[in-house]
Amino acid sequence: MADSGFELPQYDDGPSIEASARVLEGSRPDTVYAHVPFCRHKCHYCDFYSIVDHRDRIGAFVDRFESEVTAVRAAIDPGGIRSAFVGGGTPTMLPPDGLRRVLLAIGSIPTSPLEEFTVEANPETVTEEIAEALVSGGADRVSIGCQSFQPALLETLERHHDPASVARSVGRLRAAGIRRINLDLIFGIPGATMADWERDLDAVLALEPQHLSCYGLVFEPGTPLAEKQRLGRIEAIDDAIESAMYDRTRARLEAAGYEQYEISTWALPGERCLHNLAYWDAGQWVAIGPAAAGNLGGIRYRNLPRLDDWLEGRGVSPVVAVDRPDAATELGERAMLGLRLRRGLDRAVATALAASTSARQSAIERHLDAGGLEWRGDRLRITDGALMLADDILSDLV
Ligand code: SF4
Repeated sequence: MADSGFELPQYDDGPSIEASARVLEGSRPDTVYAHVPFCRHKCHYCDFYSIVDHRDRIGAFVDRFESEVTAVRAAIDPGGIRSAFVGGGTPTMLPPDGLRRVLLAIGSIPTSPLEEFTVEANPETVTEEIAEALVSGGADRVSIGCQSFQPALLETLERHHDPASVARSVGRLRAAGIRRINLDLIFGIPGATMADWERDLDAVLALEPQHLSCYGLVFEPGTPLAEKQRLGRIEAIDDAIESAMYDRTRARLEAAGYEQYEISTWALPGERCLHNLAYWDAGQWVAIGPAAAGNLGGIRYRNLPRLDDWLEGRGVSPVVAVDRPDAATELGERAMLGLRLRRGLDRAVATALAASTSARQSAIERHLDAGGLEWRGDRLRITDGALMLADDILSDLV
């Protein structure tokens, strides 16, 4: 566990291998996040760390990844790990043998058997060989970025996949033995109409996934999409239409048997994502791979973010951006994540939040009076009618 007497490096101090050792040693994560930073093409709305020019570095990446897992495995107490998630980037851009090695490395961490092992995929990358590598590597759940089934909207996002490749991928994954599928969709893409969104919902429901994530498009600062908006080359869609899309999503998914358990997330009964629940429930996660972010023993950290620098090392990754939030900040973060869940915050956390500052107390009272928050039994939650305003409510509270 992290030593409370240890002076954490600041972001500008640069990467620190000493901090990595202090953060990892004896920590007891609930889940593993591994980052594979390769993409075929950079989508215009994306602010994740990924690179497109990478073919010559894939072999070195897999060797380095295995070396990092070996070192992390020796440093942590893995007994509480129930799930793992390999994201990116596009993990399925790795060649089948490289992907299998990455997954087997994670599987070598001596958890009690993983209850959930998810890998993210882009639809155009799921060949039969990749599907087999996923299964032989131990994955049992795949999360596919569909975003839209309308070619013009995919073009707005600069997503380069054929909508028909989603159904092909799902078929290949199921034929190989992957039972649990998540599909990601984005609503509120510039130019989208309600009819487009209804067609997207038809398309995902026809594939009968166990889990669905439907996000409103965010113009992340620094992305080409945000720049196009700034230059007036595209316009965000009207708030009222975006809100109607969200309401329609909730109604249609509920009618199809999906339970909404988070602001943007739905699952069939028994199919909630353990890994994401660990984030929202103030769990701890260990980060593996370049630019992966972790949270252990009250410390937030990020692995060395540049692939070439990361490749030069061995063992654990040096970490940057290490931060140990104070108790009030940590409570605020916990409340913000917990309120994203439809079951809301338990009374003890909500009471502690209200007691932590007078501004928080009055924000809670204000939103209770205005109908944005409600008590449901012993839990405080965002009301159905205020879900589209959740970001505003959450930033008010914390
Ligand atoms: S494929 Fe995913 S990670 Fe890669 S650029 Fe597109 S959105 Fe970002």
